[in-house]
Amino acid sequence: MKTKSIQSIKGTQDILPSEVHFWQEMERKIFEEMALFGFSEIRTPAFENTDLFSRSVGEQTDIVSKEMYTFEDRSGGNLTLKPEATASVVRAFIQHNLDKINTLTRLFYIDALFRRERPQKGRYRQFHQFGAELFGSEHPEADIEIISLASSIFKSIGIDEITLKINTIGSKSARDNYKIELKRFLKPQFNKLSEASRERFEKNPLRILDTKNSQEQEILLNAPQIFEYLSEDDKAHFSEVKMHLKGLNINFEIDPYLVRGLDYYNRTIFEFISNEIGSQNAICGGGRYDSLVSQLGGSDTPSIGFAAGMERILLATSNKERAENIDCYIVCMGNKAQDWVLKCANRLRSMKFSVCFDLLKRSLKSQMKEANRLNAKHAIIIGENEIKDNKFQVKDLDTGKQQEVAFEHIIKYFKNL
Ligand code: AMP
Repeated sequence: MKTKSIQSIKGTQDILPSEVHFWQEMERKIFEEMALFGFSEIRTPAFENTDLFSRSVGEQTDIVSKEMYTFEDRSGGNLTLKPEATASVVRAFIQHNLDKINTLTRLFYIDALFRRERPQKGRYRQFHQFGAELFGSEHPEADIEIISLASSIFKSIGIDEITLKINTIGSKSARDNYKIELKRFLKPQFNKLSEASRERFEKNPLRILDTKNSQEQEILLNAPQIFEYLSEDDKAHFSEVKMHLKGLNINFEIDPYLVRGLDYYNRTIFEFISNEIGSQNAICGGGRYDSLVSQLGGSDTPSIGFAAGMERILLATSNKERAENIDCYIVCMGNKAQDWVLKCANRLRSMKFSVCFDLLKRSLKSQMKEANRLNAKHAIIIGENEIKDNKFQVKDLDTGKQQEVAFEHIIKYFKNL
């Protein structure tokens, strides 16, 4: 009886050879754009102390209250697989005194993250984000650098159909005042709210604002808006952000209901929404987090960042499967030729040509078929007669042209390509 095979865990995905090319291409563009904006990469561990997330993302948020993969270490510590990367980057920033090296610190990451959400298209339990964090400036120009960085990366990846939504949520005290007013407004309508919103009413009422439920959206049309509760400084900051966005021709919409699901944000928050990928349409989220560094034990460091979901970005780009592609396939005829094939392959590889050959001692016909399947650009035929006469057939598989070449000239043939 065949042993039952083990399957991957629900909500996780294998990235197969036929699609990994798109990931590599996206990563290459991320590295390129990040360098153009002067951001350096940081890599943080896959798990952290659970406290890091409850103290930053917030106890009452969906992420911390329902979605974290938390486990007890054998020695009793409470650990969590990273559900988001900003908290870890901030922890590393403080721990390694990065603020002492420069007054401005520009960091980016590409990382795997873990949230126990209900899996569906565009929503997974292990997913990947790239993101950037800019530490040290409270000025609106820092907000603009972060938004234009995200926007440039999307452009270079080829995502056009996206909308940038922005809002400002001011300081914590403005938000606290606003929460009181919002609850006062919603209380008479409490029975009309969905179960999820009723749950949020006490714990995290701002999240009711980004409901997808149309009846709730209608109720909210008359709700007080956070903008009315902001200080003059907050409002002026937001005006400058808008002014610079216009100056750079970055299109945006102001969304007064945009709140974002994490506690640490203040002032500018934003999301990039794709118009093409269905219900899980947020591609990127970000915002200012001026108090997070001090809240986690560092010095006062106004900061702003974004995180973009890579699976969703790939959904939003039209991908065609790319076939494999090698420079040369060596056809081996007869046992005596094996040694020559190995030698020839490694010589060409040392010159940075990609080479494959048969490992199953198959017929000439099967080997040529394999060369085609691999989209080889050239084929070399090495058999006992060829070795005896020192005449090897090198075939250009695109044009069909064939040449007879002495072994010592095979390298020259490839060098001259
Ligand atoms: P967040 O960290 O929640 O602000 O999310 C930032 C971005 O990460 C979102 O806009 C999504 O593109 C992506 N993202 C968040 N959660 C998931 C998930 N469970 N699966 C796939 N992508 C996600």
